Amino acid sequence: MKKSIFTPKVCYYYKMLPTDLLTSHFRLDEPHKKALKRLSIFTVAELLLHLPQRYEDVSDIQAVGSLIKGQDAIVFGQLGGLNTRKSWKSKVPISEGWVEDGTARMKIMWFNQPYIAKMLTDGMYVKLVGKVAGTEGKLYLTNPEVEKLDSLPIDRHDSIFNNTANLDDTIYPVYRETKGVTSKWFFHTVQKCFAAGILDVMADPIPEAILHRYNLPVLKTALQWIHTPKKADHAQSARKRFAFEEVFYIQTAKAKERAAVTVSSSYLIKTEPEHIDAFTKRFPFPLTKAQEKSIRDILHDLAGKHPMSRLLEGDVGSGKTAVAATTAYAVATSRPPEGLAAKLQYGNLQVAYMAPTEILAKQHFESFIQYFKHLPIQIGLVTGSGCFKFPSKSNPDKPTPISKAQLLKWVKNGEIPILIGTHALIYKSVEFKHLAHVIIDEQHRFGTNQRRALAKKDTRMPHLLSMTATPIPRTLALTVYGDLDISLLDEMPKGRKPIITKVFAPSQMEEVYAHVQTELDAGRQAYVICPRIDEPDPTKENALQLKSVKQEALRLKKLVFKNARIDILHSKMTPKEKDTVMEKFLSHQIDILVATSVVEVGVNVPNATNIIIEGAERFGLAQLHQLRGRVVRGTHQAYCFAVTSKDTSGSTGKTMERLKALTEAKNGFELAEYDLTLRGSGELYGMKQWGLTDLGMEAIKNIKMVEAARTEAQRLIAEDQELKNHPAIANKIATLSKNLHME
Ligand code: ADP
Ligand code: MG
Repeated sequence: MKKSIFTPKVCYYYKMLPTDLLTSHFRLDEPHKKALKRLSIFTVAELLLHLPQRYEDVSDIQAVGSLIKGQDAIVFGQLGGLNTRKSWKSKVPISEGWVEDGTARMKIMWFNQPYIAKMLTDGMYVKLVGKVAGTEGKLYLTNPEVEKLDSLPIDRHDSIFNNTANLDDTIYPVYRETKGVTSKWFFHTVQKCFAAGILDVMADPIPEAILHRYNLPVLKTALQWIHTPKKADHAQSARKRFAFEEVFYIQTAKAKERAAVTVSSSYLIKTEPEHIDAFTKRFPFPLTKAQEKSIRDILHDLAGKHPMSRLLEGDVGSGKTAVAATTAYAVATSRPPEGLAAKLQYGNLQVAYMAPTEILAKQHFESFIQYFKHLPIQIGLVTGSGCFKFPSKSNPDKPTPISKAQLLKWVKNGEIPILIGTHALIYKSVEFKHLAHVIIDEQHRFGTNQRRALAKKDTRMPHLLSMTATPIPRTLALTVYGDLDISLLDEMPKGRKPIITKVFAPSQMEEVYAHVQTELDAGRQAYVICPRIDEPDPTKENALQLKSVKQEALRLKKLVFKNARIDILHSKMTPKEKDTVMEKFLSHQIDILVATSVVEVGVNVPNATNIIIEGAERFGLAQLHQLRGRVVRGTHQAYCFAVTSKDTSGSTGKTMERLKALTEAKNGFELAEYDLTLRGSGELYGMKQWGLTDLGMEAIKNIKMVEAARTEAQRLIAEDQELKNHPAIANKIATLSKNLHME
């Protein structure tokens, strides 16, 4: 028998450690090195944690050489000799070829499937399932089903039939491959590491007591079970452990984050209900029940000893700004304890309100002016392109531009209690006297340290209210927002006309344009959203089907809306350019704004009642929902036209079905759940950057697993907040926190 090149050889000169580079134990050629780099596998530990994707059961597989007539065969092998001809008698097309698996070669015949040979190529690795026909000596596989494989399972000669791979039984692992490195290679290299005694020197970061409580295997056992399972149960159990581990680190990071906030002190803000009512009664609308409840939640937190960490989650248009304003009012009308005790002329407590863009910061500033104009409370606006203060001395109804230096002086001495702005708010130069409350709009991560930094020398940590319109499925919220309490605005203000959403194919655009034209004639405005900014590189495949902002704007002007004023907005423009365009759109100097999804976040132009979304299938449903949220602001009926990039037929049927959910779903949460089942969490909520494996991605959808990990994480942090006794866990979550921008 030929000796396999894969047979583990004792070729190490010193003890193998998990942190060792693979190159110090194995000879790797360039393609191998490149491939491993692509998979981010450099060390022995990283190799061992490249877990199998699935398992195959060899007991189902037959050697081609052992097949007999009439048998239902499952064989793995390489294809060859493919061609198609017509049978001379019946003129039925016959495709034929052969499969070889190292034990023998057998003929394959497909009758009446002329396309099949075209789909396959000689040399391809396949799994075939079919019946053995013919006569002894002239056997063939008839009409087998074909599954293409990247490579053959482990190694035909050595492992499956000759059993040299230490698999005494029939399950073998299949690893994720990439060009240059095969599943087989992983299998054999892992086995060599086992043979070198690596399992005895791998320390388990997870305390045994925790694993014990959930009946999960310790690291050593789990690695053995996952790479060389003797039973399917073992593999399952090991996978559960690794999944738990990933979720546990995230939850520990969150628990640690939370604990750091909880031990800090904050400004205690006590408010009388009548005081708050007086403020909210002046709104030009009654609050929704959900808004009232959220305000209560927040005021309750503000009156507590420790800083609030709360997320206000609500669909576009659900009225988050009014909630934010009410809490800002509660804070800005409260006094710091020092002021009370000493009866000094201290300023009131302060609020910082941070928006993701200048346009939004300005809109919030304007909303706040409406809400606060009857009060002697000053409001500042600080953005990269200028500063304002309300009220102006000369005109008490209007804001006035002031120098940044002057504004910051008044913020520093406490005269201005409410400061609204963009990221400029967190610059070093911005100092508050008594910063008690930070409100953040659509800024997904804002960590403890950033929060502390904002308060500068103040030993008290500000309360945090984070707001988002991104609906997130409940199962994921525990992970993504594990360090926050959540308030939901799950109710829309009364009297909103629901938006009319329709899905169209490119061939139906005349109808869409005709509708938009009548809307323009009636004095309304429209958005057209395109998936890309510029015309793509025509040499790239599929490139031409997606519309671009620049070309579409020209085309619409030239061919469709000849009399309309059309302009563009996209992320490559400077903040100032974007602002100018947005102002013009807001003041109706532009009729149609052709844009990328940059308009997604929060911009409010009530007169824009139509939105055409080109290449709609390219967007997530929740994102589409947010996009159409741009046009539900006013009192006019709003319309959303979701247009696919290709005409609907055949394979795009699924696309239509997915988009149909958009026309039916009641709210963003429903769509988010739908997205999750269709696309998985990796694509969504930026979870790629969490460094989760596929296993972890699955695990965070498992509410029981997440809750268990959360309980254990909280217990661990309660016992050992700095993780002094668990340096390995501390290490893991330090990296994680960095990726999540929690630091
Ligand atoms: P979002 O939650 O998307 O930030 P906004 O706070 O911008 O929503 O509110 C959207 C619009 O709804 C604003 O014009 C606001 O004045 C209005 N609004 C807020 N609350 C109510 C309510 N309870 N009833 C009627 N309109 C409301
Ligand atoms: Mg908003």
